[in-house]
Amino acid sequence: MEAIAKNYRLIRSLSAPAICAAVVKCDAYGLGLGPVARRLSEEGCTNFFVALPQEAINLRDSLQSLRRKHSIYILSGMNDDFKDICDESIAPVLNSLEEIKLWRTYKDLVASGLPAIVNFDTGMNRLGLDRDETEQVLANTSLISPRYVNFIMSHLACADDPTHKKNEDQLDRFSNLVNVIGGRFKYSFANSPGVFLGSRFHYDMVRPGAALYGIGCNSKDRKKLSPVVELKSEILQTRSVTTGETAGYGADGRINRPSRLATVALGYGDGLFRHLGNSGRGFISGQAVPVLGRVSMDLVTLDVTDVPETLCKKGDWVEFIGAHQSPDDLADSAGTIGYEVLTALGNRFRKGYLGTIS
Ligand SMILES: *Cc1c(COP(=O)(O)O)cnc(C)c1O
Repeated sequence: MEAIAKNYRLIRSLSAPAICAAVVKCDAYGLGLGPVARRLSEEGCTNFFVALPQEAINLRDSLQSLRRKHSIYILSGMNDDFKDICDESIAPVLNSLEEIKLWRTYKDLVASGLPAIVNFDTGMNRLGLDRDETEQVLANTSLISPRYVNFIMSHLACADDPTHKKNEDQLDRFSNLVNVIGGRFKYSFANSPGVFLGSRFHYDMVRPGAALYGIGCNSKDRKKLSPVVELKSEILQTRSVTTGETAGYGADGRINRPSRLATVALGYGDGLFRHLGNSGRGFISGQAVPVLGRVSMDLVTLDVTDVPETLCKKGDWVEFIGAHQSPDDLADSAGTIGYEVLTALGNRFRKGYLGTIS
């Protein structure tokens, strides 16, 4: 928890005077929505982003006991039950003119509650007002009113590559919006890697997710972050095998020398990607131990031949994420990104938080 708090303070100081919101979608990137959001609230974070309505409700419930005012925004827009969900602390991110219209009609009726955010697509082509709709708003800015919208936002596609031309293209499109729509609204543009692109990208509020959890960005910026997650599992059994034997399903683990194997209680059911078969590794006392053969649902077999036997007995622990292997390192071996490593972590193991949580 201290690491998340520290990362939050770092990102906030890098983006000041912009507000530092926190993206806690997908169970705070797999780390646990309630504890993470409460800790961030204690650091002074009052603006939160989730993806789905149910996540917003869960978050509101988790934060309730803190008796502070929070603003929770639902990134994936509105569905039909927004009237039941939106209140003083929950509002949607509006992704089309149609959603803006529905929201305006609703706000004309209720006239209270948290104003929404309007999302303009500036080149990602994912969610938000598309080029045509953006043109319409630029030609008639009265289509959105500060009466029911407080922030205008957009999302960067390539911010983790600071040299990518798309960053400046999107910034041009966004700054044009800001110029035309003007000072009646506040603006939000940067995700985690966007924060590291510098103050031109910060506007009034930044929206980091990954950086809070010590992942993502580019490898140089990531070094400035504190590592957040440790994942360890226990050796269930060890055995000696001879040359020519095989290990695991499909006989995919080839044994080319007299070896010692350790079978560990971690598998793809826990988020250790099957793709790590014969390619991933764990660490025992800082020494790398390669995955041998396929990853099973509950188990993985490691080649521990080169580790002293006293360090890898039944009941000893193997590190898969920690000081020797970050989520992004593990992701590299599996051909994915740290985000997927964290959000794939199952809920079968004991999850513990270090430091104070409320
Ligand atoms: C997920 C998301 C973020 C956070 O992105 P990170 O790369 O995790 O910082 C910000 N804005 C939007 C719209 C998102 O979908």
